[in-house]
Amino acid sequence: MAVQRVVFDDLEIGEIGIQLDDKEPDEVIGWALETFGDRIAVVTAFQAEGCVVLDMACRIRPDVRVITVDSGRLPQETYSFIDTVKAKYPEIRLEVLFPDYREVESMVRRHRMDLFYDSVPLRLLCCHIRKVRPLLRALQQLDAWFTGLRREQWASRANIKKVELDHDHGGIVKVNPLADWTKEEVWDYIRANALPYHPLYDKGYTSIGCAPCTRPIRPGEDDRMGRWWWETNAPKECGIHCPIETGGFEHEVEAILGSAHHHSMVEAKTNGRE
Ligand code: SF4
Repeated sequence: MAVQRVVFDDLEIGEIGIQLDDKEPDEVIGWALETFGDRIAVVTAFQAEGCVVLDMACRIRPDVRVITVDSGRLPQETYSFIDTVKAKYPEIRLEVLFPDYREVESMVRRHRMDLFYDSVPLRLLCCHIRKVRPLLRALQQLDAWFTGLRREQWASRANIKKVELDHDHGGIVKVNPLADWTKEEVWDYIRANALPYHPLYDKGYTSIGCAPCTRPIRPGEDDRMGRWWWETNAPKECGIHCPIETGGFEHEVEAILGSAHHHSMVEAKTNGRE
């Protein structure tokens, strides 16, 4: 049976966005679940915001689709926490995405395991291979996705809308129900509803990603300063939520994808598949 896609254009989503922009997050989530059905998923790394969106979505649809990326470099606490979340919401349809092993092998062969410490382009390369590309594959199968983005998190997020077209991912709809929430509102919701939260928050972390690229913040530091803390003048983004362009990075991506493809062709021939 052909999949029925739900597609909007800029004008339509602009009008819907205006109507929904002053609505409460659960109303926005309700609209999106009703509109997109199984063609929308909560995409989360299980930080505080993602847990709030997931909780609100589960109250409306307990078997909501949930997508997360296992980069292969996550802290053990994240793996344990994913099990905690699954126990709390047993009906969610959780999809854990992994990077393509050929691309990871090619990247490590060209550079080293901890290449991200060597330069900003190599850090972006690692994020691209380990996180962005797996997610891209999943987004191609969706018409919309929920995020936990908030405007006050970082300059690159200041203009997000609660509902917008995501031109970086094929024009699907990006739903950011917490766009206008403050950090305090997020934590008030977590406490008021006794939600489980990632255990590293209690150790001084304020934004949690891969183990080698995340540390607790120091007093007075911005919340996202614990991410890629050794970098100066680079966006605190992995490329999932905004396109990042640097000359060296694109060149490296092409080299790795070319090489990974070459190895898979050789593998296929060796296995008699071609
Ligand atoms: S956060 Fe660090 S380890 Fe994780 S994908 Fe990005 S560069 Fe690689």
